[in-house]
Amino acid sequence: MVLAQLGGSISRAIQQMSNATIIDEKALNDCLNEITRALLQSDVQFKLVRDMQTNIKKIVNLDDLAAGHNKRRIIQQAIFNELCKILDPGKSSFTPKKGKTSVVMFVGLQGSGKTTTCTKYAYYHQKKGWKPALVCADTFRAGAFDQLKQNATKAKIPFYGSYTESDPVKIAEEGVETFKKENCDLIIVDTSGRHKQEAALFEEMRQVSEATKPDLIIFVMDSSIGQAAFDQAQAFKQMVAVGAVIITKMDGHAKGGGALSAVAATKSPVIFIGTGEHMDEFEVFDVKPFVSRLLG
Ligand code: GDP
Repeated sequence: MVLAQLGGSISRAIQQMSNATIIDEKALNDCLNEITRALLQSDVQFKLVRDMQTNIKKIVNLDDLAAGHNKRRIIQQAIFNELCKILDPGKSSFTPKKGKTSVVMFVGLQGSGKTTTCTKYAYYHQKKGWKPALVCADTFRAGAFDQLKQNATKAKIPFYGSYTESDPVKIAEEGVETFKKENCDLIIVDTSGRHKQEAALFEEMRQVSEATKPDLIIFVMDSSIGQAAFDQAQAFKQMVAVGAVIITKMDGHAKGGGALSAVAATKSPVIFIGTGEHMDEFEVFDVKPFVSRLLG
């Protein structure tokens, strides 16, 4: 189920409940079951959905609601708050400061949109007057350096990489050092991905992280991966200190539920979303407007 449909289904469920002559336990249960179904179809993890349902029932005690209270509004507010709670890990991520050197490392599976997102992130900051730079520490995928080089050249962002060096740790280290000397304030390290979460990928990530000492590690996740979102995000979090999440491919047929699962798994906020293949199809992510839009 795509995001707009999810929002529509939730709104419809609330509307249906409001249309009932009396909002009793059954009407509330029917509404919550409908919302549960919609969230599961959007690939929100089962446990999150179940917890959310339990919490709402705890908050909305129909017997306690004095006559005259707008039950619909109270229930709607409870649903809004619960969705916000899932998306808000309660702490913000490290925020780089313009003019002060920060190293940001990107991790994620191959095909998640990592390289594209690195450039988008650099371009976003460059437009705001930063001095970003890109380091390609992906020696695994043939063509990775060319892709980064092409993107970086288009955006006029300095880049570092090698066609001959096969050690990603060495490239990452040298790239970061080079750009530190050039006083770049946002040094972005693109790492390799594999198709699966295999040991070699995680070991390489750990070594690159150790060598470059990033101020922030961003986990990039394709929003259309479905129910696998929670486990995938958690696997990355267990291996390196993921501090923020970027969800890609929120355009098209993306399922939005993965975002909720990734936040829950990494206990890190979503900071941006990718909404297309182009450099500027990139949006800052804010929880409340996102949920408001979701609920219509
Ligand atoms: P990587 O292997 O993780 O580095 O992934 P790439 O950056 O090469 O991206 C894989 C594919 O996804 C490319 O065709 C990108 O153009 C595409 N892509 C990346 N982000 C988005 C997005 O937000 N929306 C859409 N529609 N496509 C995206």
